Amino acid sequence: MKSTRVALAAFAAVGALTLTACSTADPGETDDTGNTGGEEMTDEGDGGADAGEGLRIGIKFDQPGLGFQDGGDYTGFDVDVALYVTEQLGYSADQIEFVEAPSAQRETMLQNGQVDMIFATYSITDERDEAVDFAGPYFVAGQDLLIRSEDEGTITGPESLDGLDLCSVSGSTSAQRVVDEYAAGANLIEQPGYSECIQFLTGGQVDAVTTDDIILAGLAAAEGSGALQVVGSPFSEENYGVGLPDGSDMCEDINAAIQAMIDDGSWEAAVEANTEGTGYTPNAELNPPEMRGCAS
Ligand code: GLU
Repeated sequence: MKSTRVALAAFAAVGALTLTACSTADPGETDDTGNTGGEEMTDEGDGGADAGEGLRIGIKFDQPGLGFQDGGDYTGFDVDVALYVTEQLGYSADQIEFVEAPSAQRETMLQNGQVDMIFATYSITDERDEAVDFAGPYFVAGQDLLIRSEDEGTITGPESLDGLDLCSVSGSTSAQRVVDEYAAGANLIEQPGYSECIQFLTGGQVDAVTTDDIILAGLAAAEGSGALQVVGSPFSEENYGVGLPDGSDMCEDINAAIQAMIDDGSWEAAVEANTEGTGYTPNAELNPPEMRGCAS
């Protein structure tokens, strides 16, 4: 596999892309217990900002423009929404510890108390809603395809994937949709994260990567050479929710905070800052989204 060099170049570009973008928090300053991701929470309750207690927030670490770790900095739209919402809840940025929440581990991390909340391109689905609670949505994306630019016009949507190899991430709605609807055509290769899929695409081991359009746009821009492009024909609606432990009492407050972010212009500014240079425009019919309400 030739991918190490490509990946390093991509992530150098990613750093440049995301450094322009936004807010950061250093987890080293945030946790006076000295704990690192994966250990038990100090805040067992669902409640508000008790003095001195921090929050553990699950984000992605490999999705430039959404949730991205660059040294001790965390950038992207999910990070910006998380920091806005938690500030409204009474937490300062230095009380937040960001923890990696890979697609397949999100429900478990909430159930085990490894994180208090998840802002990680986390689509609200009926199945997930059985296991965890959701506030939001705070963004609506759509599943799309990322291809090598030389295949423009040849791969135009999921129906043109017959006999081709397709990479997606385990535990994502994107991989599940391929299994449910397109398995007869495409050969799905599942990976733990999106950076692995990009390495497979640039290395020629797969013909396309599939997940949400906003994620793919960020990955293509971060790759930096123009070798990858998003097809641009989304074929699903992905409502990004704030994942919460089942039975949480924070949903209403989080929805109010998201609404405040939309109303005061911060939401739009964060979308623009985090998609700048990617060519991505959100679906204006679905964004900014309406809050769906909280289960009682
Ligand atoms: N939004 C989709 C999901 O929640 C795909 C992106 C992701 O893997 O986070 O599964």
